[in-house]
Amino acid sequence: MSKIRVKTPMVEMDGDEMTRVIWQMIKDKLILPYLDIELDYYDLHVSNRDKTNDQVTVDAANAIKKYGIGVKCATITPDADRVKEYNLKKEWKSPNATIRSILDGTVFRMPIYLKNIPPAVRSWHNPIVIGRHAYGDLYKCTDFKVDKPGKVEIVYTPEGGEPQRHLVHDFKEPGIVMGIHNLEKSIRSFAQSCIIYALSKRMDIWFATKDTISKEYHAYFKQVFQEEIDKRREELDAAHITYRYLLIDDAVAQMMKHEGGFLLALKNYDGDVMSDMVAAGFGSLGLMTSVLVSPNGQFEYEAAHGTVKRHYYEHLKGNATSTNSLASIFAWIGALGKRGKLDKTMDVLEFARALKSAALTTVYDGIMTKDMTRMVGKTDSEAVTTEGFIDAVKQRLDSKVSALVG
Ligand code: NAP
Ligand code: MG
Repeated sequence: MSKIRVKTPMVEMDGDEMTRVIWQMIKDKLILPYLDIELDYYDLHVSNRDKTNDQVTVDAANAIKKYGIGVKCATITPDADRVKEYNLKKEWKSPNATIRSILDGTVFRMPIYLKNIPPAVRSWHNPIVIGRHAYGDLYKCTDFKVDKPGKVEIVYTPEGGEPQRHLVHDFKEPGIVMGIHNLEKSIRSFAQSCIIYALSKRMDIWFATKDTISKEYHAYFKQVFQEEIDKRREELDAAHITYRYLLIDDAVAQMMKHEGGFLLALKNYDGDVMSDMVAAGFGSLGLMTSVLVSPNGQFEYEAAHGTVKRHYYEHLKGNATSTNSLASIFAWIGALGKRGKLDKTMDVLEFARALKSAALTTVYDGIMTKDMTRMVGKTDSEAVTTEGFIDAVKQRLDSKVSALVG
């Protein structure tokens, strides 16, 4: 079979544990036999990050800046136990946080919708994507306890100016206080990333806060978001994408009866909470994909789940595993589809579609890993192994790709 040529190199980031095992299988069985592709490879295995003093992560992020698209395997974020386990120099930062700060991106989490695995929320027939602003608010707060009566004020001292005081509360009894902040630039890039994502997926955008109560803080998010939407109004109109601003309580009530198929953009805390609610509503962590979109239009695709440590330890003992590879396969589908679109290479785009169709058909044919059989009330003995699932996808892909390349 002749291979399909991918014009521009793609950045590949390898990872850890069970997902590294899956990653190799996906490459060997579902990608390299069909594509003539130049992969700019970075090994983000925790030992290699340690060996390079994490330079390899920085290099990978810069490579995404250069080529525009990357695909990443899940990686360990080391804690004290991992430092011991892998004999590391220190608890290195999360690679995702490093890459996100270099690309200044926003993470979008999108569930894989399978029509034979009904979501817990019956009305959801299309994915709901959560775009979470990942800077500031609660996550960079200053908070403290007040144990005696006293006045709490926020003091702002402009450079070269007089201090300005804002009363928070005149305490007559014990209580608690929190100060939070955000930055215009960060809110603007968040809005821009949401617009780029919605345009790429042709999805409507909802943005929700509580501006009726927080007339400065939340209202400022609403204002900046609206300004960025207005700047790209023509493009959004041409793509028939609508923008809705909602109060967050209204948004939550509306989404439960909506059929899905939209992007819900949220502030940091709201996005943190709601993305887990949506993931649970759709089914399993193994069915959640994730993409980092930079305001400059660079994309990094990955599975939303971690390295599936428990399954890896079973694998090391020589026991058969039944780990769901769909989210990792969908990371490749997303990256290759985007590469094909940007390069205007129809055959690469068609390949991405064929891989998606092969993966979905596998599940529709009833071939599932344990996490999926459990969602449809089947027994564990009806589940296939990790490799068995990937082989079943390959079988279906073979016939689709032969039809493509002739
Ligand atoms: P995890 O990998 O998300 O897995 C937690 C549990 O969720 C698994 O034990 C498994 O449940 C289930 N699960 C997750 N993905 C699955 C899949 N593809 N197929 C079937 N079941 C799946 O979290 P973890 O094992 O607690 O964390 C391991 C490492 O991942 C940590 O070191 C953490 O730093 C890292 N992490 C990385 C990323 C990333 O790179 N994006 C994200 C999160 C965590 P059962 O055990 O019940 O089968
Ligand atoms: Mg969370």
